[in-house]
Amino acid sequence: MLCIRFGKMDMGNPLPARDGCKSLAKFYKSNRKWKMTSFQMTPEQRSILSLRERVYRVKKKMSQSGHVISFAFNIPGAEKRPAWLSAIFKTLREELMDYFQNVCGVNIEDEFLYDTSAGCGFCCLVSQVVTALELKKAAINFENNSVIGRILDIDVMDAYHGIISRSDLGYSERLCFLCDRKVSECIGRRHSIEQLILYSEQCCKEYAALKGI
Ligand SMILES: [Zn+2]
Repeated sequence: MLCIRFGKMDMGNPLPARDGCKSLAKFYKSNRKWKMTSFQMTPEQRSILSLRERVYRVKKKMSQSGHVISFAFNIPGAEKRPAWLSAIFKTLREELMDYFQNVCGVNIEDEFLYDTSAGCGFCCLVSQVVTALELKKAAINFENNSVIGRILDIDVMDAYHGIISRSDLGYSERLCFLCDRKVSECIGRRHSIEQLILYSEQCCKEYAALKGI
């Protein structure tokens, strides 16, 4: 596992059990097909769950010092970190850093970047020059307007609110990649995994072409 940490953050001590449970519940809710105990999971699914738990703990700890922005790819299927994602990940991280600095005027104060077979992404602590809600609004605008936005999960978190949801800003739930129904009514039910993987790969190709990668 490649983890690069900038700044002063230390992710040593585990958080109280309730944080892990909250994260686990959110994970199960967002992965309808994985409503199973850890004993029923494949090793790959356990690795993904373990990574998400770890990243959640990092964000939770960072958020004690201010607002946290994070992003991860929402790539369907078992392969969460195809080799071709490297250049896209690097370019996107830089683009998002610039975007939040330019649009919201924040400075990056601390960063945690991870790159493993179970997924890649980053989270960063930013200066509190705007509210967490304003950061989330900017994140939603990016997701809505970037060609790769629909396969990204950009989260904003602070110590007071936890993870800011779309509904906190009056936005409706995100829509399915393929048919614009609500995700909760669609993903995992109406489309094959092959269709979803194809869509996510097309998004990445389009982004790569746009950025000259
Ligand atoms: Zn759909």
